[in-house]
Amino acid sequence: MSLMEWVFISLGLKIGSFLNVCIVRIPRRQSIVSPRSFCTRCGQALKPYDNIPLISYLVLGGKCRFCKGTISWQYPVVEALTTAIFWGTYAGYGLQWKTAVLLVFFSALIVLVFIDLNHRLLPDVITLPGIALGVVLSLLVGIEDDVGTALVQLAGLPDSGGRWGWLISSLLGAFICGGFLWLVGAVYFKLKKVEGLGGGDLKLMGMVGAFLGVKLGLLTIMLGSVLGALVGLAYIKMTGKDYRYPLPFGSFLGVAAIGAALWGEQLLSWYLGITGRL
Ligand SMILES: [Zn+2]
Repeated sequence: MSLMEWVFISLGLKIGSFLNVCIVRIPRRQSIVSPRSFCTRCGQALKPYDNIPLISYLVLGGKCRFCKGTISWQYPVVEALTTAIFWGTYAGYGLQWKTAVLLVFFSALIVLVFIDLNHRLLPDVITLPGIALGVVLSLLVGIEDDVGTALVQLAGLPDSGGRWGWLISSLLGAFICGGFLWLVGAVYFKLKKVEGLGGGDLKLMGMVGAFLGVKLGLLTIMLGSVLGALVGLAYIKMTGKDYRYPLPFGSFLGVAAIGAALWGEQLLSWYLGITGRL
């Protein structure tokens, strides 16, 4: 393994550990910088050697050194997942701005996926700055978005090549993906008289659209819905829960967004190749 790969792996471990802090503290409106990490059960501050990503969990056997309370499986999972994503993204894209922007995007998504899983909540403090960040960073890394380009031409806006085009693609992505989900929610509400989608889902999709553009953003909604239906139904069947059990749709959208960002283009060209259209 190359030196740079080790750099990204250790960065992934560090950031994964920080994302755990965000996942636990942001929904409780606590500071993510201070105090130092502590056991959420007995409140003891962790010794530095008990706060090493992945390794401490294994050494301690998943139990707090002081109160012997169980440490959630989520900590090592988030650390391992973040590390795998950091390593994989570097392996796929190398050392360039796109890698950095994707890793910022993925880090925010990991936090949102787990907060939604735990609390059925997608905090505005992440999604709203996320939308703004996606738009700003689109100036740094181009969004190649044929759907966005087609819409730009259709609307008679200036040619979408270059940085202005990237910016427009990002803004269009945010509005159209958020708007599309709003429309789905409104139709669902009309038909079923139940709130099926939360406002958090719309803002999350605004953020995904801002980072990925219209095409991959809409793909995210499709993949997230399929994933949610499959996993959700399997979960409800297995646990015998009511079919109205609230599923964390945001978590599915978050996972789908990571998939769409990494493999969306290949998936679309494979699909269009099979169906033989376009
Ligand atoms: Zn403890």
